[in-house]
Amino acid sequence: MKRYMCIFIALGTQFLAGVPAQAEVKIAVAHNPNADASPGFKFKTVPAASATNAATTATFSVVDGTVDGSSGGIEKLNDGKLPDEEDEPAENFFFDAGTSGGRLEVDLGSVINVKQVNTYSWHPSTRGPQVYKLYASAGDSKDFNASPKNGTNPEGCGWKLLANVNTKPNDGTDEGGQYGVSISDSEGAIGRYRYLLFDMARTENDDDFGNTFYSEINVVDADASAVAPTAIAAATGPFVFKTADGKNEITVQTKDAPQLREWTESQLAPALAEWYPKIVAMLPSDGYTAPTHFSITLKPMDGVAFTAGTRVVANSDWLEKEIGREAVGSLVHEAVHVVQQFGHGGGHNPGWLVEGSADYIRWFKYEPQSHGADMEWMRHLRHFNPQYNASYRITANFLNWVTEKYDTNIVTQMNAAMRAGNYDDGLWKQYTGKSAPELGDEWKKDIGTQLDKAGQ
Ligand SMILES: [Zn+2]
Repeated sequence: MKRYMCIFIALGTQFLAGVPAQAEVKIAVAHNPNADASPGFKFKTVPAASATNAATTATFSVVDGTVDGSSGGIEKLNDGKLPDEEDEPAENFFFDAGTSGGRLEVDLGSVINVKQVNTYSWHPSTRGPQVYKLYASAGDSKDFNASPKNGTNPEGCGWKLLANVNTKPNDGTDEGGQYGVSISDSEGAIGRYRYLLFDMARTENDDDFGNTFYSEINVVDADASAVAPTAIAAATGPFVFKTADGKNEITVQTKDAPQLREWTESQLAPALAEWYPKIVAMLPSDGYTAPTHFSITLKPMDGVAFTAGTRVVANSDWLEKEIGREAVGSLVHEAVHVVQQFGHGGGHNPGWLVEGSADYIRWFKYEPQSHGADMEWMRHLRHFNPQYNASYRITANFLNWVTEKYDTNIVTQMNAAMRAGNYDDGLWKQYTGKSAPELGDEWKKDIGTQLDKAGQ
């Protein structure tokens, strides 16, 4: 059973549009205890967090207080993403351990008709509840101070106190879990404001860990078009999709690389959905079925990427730098390794051919337009002395040359031999009539001629 706690507190009186209506600020609080807290942040009495609201484009800044070193940046409060676990410091914003909280300012950019301010938090124990005072200002009074430090009463410098929030359970129940707070007004809108000031207090001082894990802050504009707000998905859960033929499923874990989530969904997934089945079709062999599921984990690490069986791990720092350049192609290369499945009995396979084949499919099939391994690429290399077994792009160029000159099926045949554990150097002669070194010499001469021509 879910338990919800709802508190309504009336604060202040205001007059709207000349009509002497009595408006009341209302504070709705909802709590999902630990056992019921799930990544969706679903509350009965508080609206679901939205990824598109007036806070999305607002500027958040710390007015006073020290941010905890293990906290996520202040942008976590309006990034449209919620944590998907109960204790994810990097996905929340919180003030330093041992300090008594601090102040945050939200600049909405211009005066808007504020309808709601909604705040969300999640922690398994004392850092779950929210304790703060919310002030607001249009910023147009003479004495307005945009950054009143701790100890300065905001009401003395152009701010109005809107709400005094304290969601600590007073019935002795466990404090851990998710909290949602929605501040609104009985008259439909709270008022016209540009600035919000959160004066955040710690929930307790029995130990150093009383500063709340704030997950997200939403500000709803009463005049915004009535488009259904985009509900926030738990963006740190894996992104799972089917390939274009409907036969395979690929899972991309972005938990440790949330900055790559959008790229994963809009760039990587469509490319792999189209190309994984094509790669499977390019590399068949008798009695072989390629994996119908594999996973890609994006996270900071050394190097670019590796594949172990059906598990691909790729360096999110590198990918982020290569978005729009090599990011997607590098994972098409890894997808080739998934299809190759040389794990068993593959110890005899020459590494240069394994990597060269993956780069051949990547550069000559998937993205020939980027000229990553063709003559145009070679032309930019200095002191170039190509060896057919130099691996990666150079071997890819060699394989493309053999494909065009001798055997259109060479990559598929070599792949089948390697997968079966039957590769030996004699196969080159069998398929093309020439040994690999002989082919290599001929290829090198041909490249030299082409490069010389281009140089003239
Ligand atoms: Zn590789």
